[in-house]
Amino acid sequence: MHITSDFDGGNIICRAQHDPQNIRLEIRKDSGDEFFQWFYFRFVAEKGKSYSLRIENAGDASYPAGWKDYRAAASYDRKTWFRAPTAFDGKVLSIDITLACDSVYLAYFAPYAMERHADLIASCLESPLVRLEVPGRSLDGQDLDLLTIGAPGAGKRSCWVIARQHPGETMAEWFMEGLLARLLDTRDPLARKLLEQAVFYVVPNMNPDGSRRGNLRTNAAGANLNREWDQPSMERSPEVALIRQKMVETGVDFFLDVHGDEALPYNFIASTFGIPSLTDHQKELTNAYKAALQQANPDFQCEKGYPENALGKANLSMASNHIAERFGCLAMTLEQPFKDSAITPNAEEGWSPERCRKLGRSNLDALAAVIERLRNTNGH
Ligand code: ZN
Repeated sequence: MHITSDFDGGNIICRAQHDPQNIRLEIRKDSGDEFFQWFYFRFVAEKGKSYSLRIENAGDASYPAGWKDYRAAASYDRKTWFRAPTAFDGKVLSIDITLACDSVYLAYFAPYAMERHADLIASCLESPLVRLEVPGRSLDGQDLDLLTIGAPGAGKRSCWVIARQHPGETMAEWFMEGLLARLLDTRDPLARKLLEQAVFYVVPNMNPDGSRRGNLRTNAAGANLNREWDQPSMERSPEVALIRQKMVETGVDFFLDVHGDEALPYNFIASTFGIPSLTDHQKELTNAYKAALQQANPDFQCEKGYPENALGKANLSMASNHIAERFGCLAMTLEQPFKDSAITPNAEEGWSPERCRKLGRSNLDALAAVIERLRNTNGH
């Protein structure tokens, strides 16, 4: 038997592997030593035999509630990800698998490697609609990629979509694949119309270092980027400092920050109703957007989610709150499940890359429903 995670996005520590029914594993902590939950490794053993892989520190992970009703993602061909039988006893997470091939990859969710990110950016750049800008680099020296889609013009809205501030939330970048593919499809009439009304600024991966290092939540310096928006610094959180500066230059009329939630088996939107300067217009637009998204894609729902912050109680170091407060625009955090969508479950795959892509596409329907009513800073 053989276990490795020494690759892009990998994360596991193997404590002992001599007993096939008790392969003892631990998840390595994020840079900064605070968070851990993301795992991704390759397991090589004998086809046809059964194994029990036990993650012994699962009970101490950042979100133990995330293991309830959770099933690990598994793939033989590195393309199709299915769910493997998984159990949690309050302490140890056990993944039981009978191998169909000599090698299987196991992960917290279908991984999204930096190689795939590079492929995504390259394929977007084949479109004449897209421009690439690299506002700067991460602490590990990786490029921070910002795509601009469509040409600026009078009356056009500035629409920002960012993903993967939390690198272990790989569903966020699968979502971006769907959103970008639709936006760049010149045969899609809704996308064409949106590009007449708006310029899109898209950051498919806000945290390349955390992604490559196999972190759940932090960048190379141990910063949780979604708590850095009030005071980002080039030393600790250059990813946020650089993108926030670009936002000041373009203005922001719409902002969507794409995430994944460990515990809740739902797709939902966290609003910014706790910001001090909340307007009725922001509230109305948020509710209209959510309703339109639910209409466009029944994997999304409006019932379950985070409790609303009381007015004035929002954490302004979080991206969507910070931007809603600073730009007075529609800003939201979209959460997808690691587990599955409980209202529309899929036994084989759970929540999956393909469903993420489709939800990404559907967000353009929701945007189309509100775009005329967005506040317009470019009209000045
Ligand atoms: Zn997140």
